[in-house]
Amino acid sequence: MSQFPQSFWRESVNLESFPVLDHSIKADVGIVGGGIAGITAAYLLAKQNVKVALVDASQILNGTTGHTTAKITAQHELIYDELIQHFGIDKARMYYEAGEEAGKLIRKLTEEHSIDSDFSNEEAYLYTNSDDYISQLENEKKAYDKLNIPGKLTDQMPLDIPMKSALIMENQAQFHPLKYLSVLAQESIKNGAQIYENTTAIDVEYSKHPSIITGDGHRINCKYVISASHFPFYDRHSFYFSRMYPERSYVIALKSSNEFPGGMYINAESPARSIRTTKMNGEDLWLVGGENHKTGQGKSMIEHYHALHDFAKKQFSIDEFSYRWSAQDLTTMDKLPYIGPITKSEENIFVATGFRKWGMTNGTIAAKVISDLIIKKSSPYEDLFTPSRFHADPSLRKFIRINADTAKHMIKGKFDNTKKRVDELPPDEATITRIRGKRTGVYKDQDSKLHIVDTTCTHMGCEVEWNSGDRTWDCPCHGSRFSYTGDVIEGPAKKPLASREYKT
Ligand SMILES: Cc1cc2nc3c(=O)[nH]c(=O)nc-3n(C[C@H](O)[C@H](O)[C@H](O)COP(=O)(O)OP(=O)(O)OC[C@H]3O[C@@H](n4cnc5c(N)ncnc54)[C@H](O)[C@@H]3O)c2cc1C
Repeated sequence: MSQFPQSFWRESVNLESFPVLDHSIKADVGIVGGGIAGITAAYLLAKQNVKVALVDASQILNGTTGHTTAKITAQHELIYDELIQHFGIDKARMYYEAGEEAGKLIRKLTEEHSIDSDFSNEEAYLYTNSDDYISQLENEKKAYDKLNIPGKLTDQMPLDIPMKSALIMENQAQFHPLKYLSVLAQESIKNGAQIYENTTAIDVEYSKHPSIITGDGHRINCKYVISASHFPFYDRHSFYFSRMYPERSYVIALKSSNEFPGGMYINAESPARSIRTTKMNGEDLWLVGGENHKTGQGKSMIEHYHALHDFAKKQFSIDEFSYRWSAQDLTTMDKLPYIGPITKSEENIFVATGFRKWGMTNGTIAAKVISDLIIKKSSPYEDLFTPSRFHADPSLRKFIRINADTAKHMIKGKFDNTKKRVDELPPDEATITRIRGKRTGVYKDQDSKLHIVDTTCTHMGCEVEWNSGDRTWDCPCHGSRFSYTGDVIEGPAKKPLASREYKT
């Protein structure tokens, strides 16, 4: 296994490369972000003869979509009982239907284009081994009954792991997301879409129509903009950074001499454990994920991988650990994604975000909703997902909690004590120190070269923390991530961390 994280999905496909956008262009729809939301939207629009241009700051399918677990399910952990409480039966049912429709769309496109994406039908198991959660699973089952969701409770699962109860959702699925999405990208291009990589969108300018402005100063002049950049690249006055929080989670991939009995598994309690298999050279590769935590917060990040290793070693007989990777996803205040016009006054700028680690279905339905809003001017899911919604319960409480937590991290970072001395730092470790009074991050690489950055996040001035699992600087406030040299890996920040000098 490599010293740095590697995603099996990315390692097991040959992805086409695309040019940098080096001039201004025109399109009907400009899409920012080439993950599942952006690529699916490009496909659906281009198929309807809409002229699409998609830009990605890095390579397409290298964001969260390239680092997922790729279960295609409407079983989004414990959710339906809560949705009924907060939104009522009709909206809760509609959320389920959105998930099912997304699953059906993925299945249909897979068949239509004969995509060899290791797609398989599976039962989804939400299980618990904790007495405290048994009644919650029972309540969730009652919610399934109220919403006519086919499912059943059981005290036995095909996979032999400690459990007390499980709720099954039948006829769900899993796939190799990049095998599927790379075909959708190729099909979009056949239908006239243009894709550009290493092209960062930094702003939108409005006159009669919106123009996406890139970091190199080029423009995509268009009628509609879709922000599918995971964290919205354009905020204006919509304060997305205060309405969502990022959570990281981790995946390890291993080979086991146990036979995998089928099914997709996730527990209801913490720490999260999510299990499925995929095929690697005809053999089962087991994916074990979980260990969610807010980005940049909590224990040393490498310990999350260790915890997954320990769990896997205890439960299964392991021949080899093959890969490890991690990524983050965004959760909104009321747990429903934001899909639709970015603000009430900018109706031709759309956003698709807040998928709460269920973006295979939520990202797919986002693409469908937005392409319907552009082409047909309406979608049955418009009101459910509109980003302009604000429900006092639970939104208000969560809004206060998220922002209090952010404020705490803004203040805490500023007064943090320094840690290890730079001259005592072993290779491949980092420390936070003060240079001329300024909080400074120092990473010593394998060749003992120091990489020194100002730890103040360039988004809103919080202090970044070291991620020992991925060798990145992560912001605990809004989830921006920077490489050890300070380059932006993930927004909302758009500018790199300032570099600093260290003199012995
Ligand atoms: C560990 C883990 C496991 C998961 N497992 C599952 C699962 O089993 N099932 C499920 O349904 N969901 C799962 N999810 C969630 C799912 O993977 C995500 O919700 C989904 O991939 C997000 O897709 P996206 O298109 O919104 O974002 P991304 O895939 O992150 O794509 C966004 C793209 O935008 C680009 N970008 C960002 N800023 C800019 C800019 N300014 N200019 C240009 N480009 C920009 C990025 O480079 C990136 O390529 C999981 C998530 C995690 C973290």
